[in-house]
Amino acid sequence: MNQKATSNTPAKTPSTASVLVLGSGTSHGVPMIGCECATCRSDDPRDTRSRASILITVHGEASILIDTSPDLRAQALQHGLRRVDAILYTHSHADHVLGLDDVRRFNSLQRQPIPCYGDLRTLTDLRRTFAYAFEDTAHQGGGIPRVVLFPLAGEFSIGAAAFTPVPVMHGSRVIYGYRVGNFAYLTDCSAIPETSWPLLEGVEVVILDALRDRPHPTHLSIAESLQIVERLAPERAFFTHMCHDLPHVATCARLPEGVELAYDGLAFEISLRNGANPSGVRGPRE
Ligand SMILES: [Zn+2]
Ligand SMILES: [Zn+2]
Ligand SMILES: [Zn+2]
Repeated sequence: MNQKATSNTPAKTPSTASVLVLGSGTSHGVPMIGCECATCRSDDPRDTRSRASILITVHGEASILIDTSPDLRAQALQHGLRRVDAILYTHSHADHVLGLDDVRRFNSLQRQPIPCYGDLRTLTDLRRTFAYAFEDTAHQGGGIPRVVLFPLAGEFSIGAAAFTPVPVMHGSRVIYGYRVGNFAYLTDCSAIPETSWPLLEGVEVVILDALRDRPHPTHLSIAESLQIVERLAPERAFFTHMCHDLPHVATCARLPEGVELAYDGLAFEISLRNGANPSGVRGPRE
């Protein structure tokens, strides 16, 4: 019997993954409808911020989306995204879930439902917001996003990537960030509870919410995020979920070394090994 070569299957378990920032903007996006401010009118592409989402690609194994922003279709086209193997939800606010219907296209390409992870409140909200996708009766025309919902229950793995849900405060609501290897994604965060800090030990690269300079009840300000970065002491920190108060170049110029604003299209490598583990691969610095 002829053995077909499977040259595109990696021989070893991948130890690194790439992170691609699909969207770095607050719920309104930047530019904001009807705003004439300098950031909204900027021609620096890094001042154009779609709604917050990232893609984690475990090389040769899986493409994992964190949140399905209302801009998912445009983000997927922009970056040639052809595959989504799992979706991890941080919470059910509109700017993080409303792109779920666009998942239909990945269902067609992959010919199977996509596993989605989220806390119980998020999954309940998804069932209500996208009721047509979860009804027993056959939906006529257009099709439905086909997903399988998994409630968060501690650490879980997708291929070689082990994810730890990290509870963070988003105003009075507990939502979830995710840690994988030496990286953590903490969007829509106003505080990190003391009990979550051990989950972040050894994180070398972080993406953290920083809405604007002025305080906000449900989001970290730049000053508050910088305090968290100081305690976390990662090698690199990127801020996300920014509003139009923060022009890219001028804001980056006043941030300390190792801290930058993320932007749509930013990409970097992470290690899938825990950063606290001395045998782990070091995170990228370049
Ligand atoms: Zn948000
Ligand atoms: Zn503006
Ligand atoms: Zn939110």
